[in-house]
Amino acid sequence: MTQITGTLINYYFHCKTQCWLHANRINLEDNSEDVRIGKILHELADQKGKKTEISIDNVKIDKLTKDYLIEVKKSDSAPEAVKWQVLLYLYKLKQKGVLKKGKIEFIEKKKQSKKIHYIELDEENEKELMEVLARISELIDAPKPPEAKFENHCKKCAYYEYCFI
Ligand code: SF4
Repeated sequence: MTQITGTLINYYFHCKTQCWLHANRINLEDNSEDVRIGKILHELADQKGKKTEISIDNVKIDKLTKDYLIEVKKSDSAPEAVKWQVLLYLYKLKQKGVLKKGKIEFIEKKKQSKKIHYIELDEENEKELMEVLARISELIDAPKPPEAKFENHCKKCAYYEYCFI
């Protein structure tokens, strides 16, 4: 079974075509402005010695504190996708014997403020997460991607040209 990363679970809730394409290594991420900005911000943090990202197995976690796993997002446009991403990270940590709660910080670009959401990997969430992971595995093991359907968010997607031009 393909290892399911935070990016894959996020894409699954964003767009199932995107999830399949990324999982099957059709990667056009370099064309995406959002991804480029994210990479530059990480590189700048590295240069300043402020690297806080932590890698565990195949997932990258923004910050870990005594009580929380913290995921930082620059927009709250896909809260459901981020919720499952964080639940996956909490699950991976739990498998290593590390129990944390999740904290999601949405940094508003223009508003100088941030929205914070808290989440826990309780029994119900964990059961649902297992079902989500099984559905993702089934999707990405399919021989071809689901047909692309145009949505407003497509114009910002790295696969826009691939899907529609
Ligand atoms: S362009 Fe739209 S349909 Fe195609 S992968 Fe991106 S989000 Fe999905």
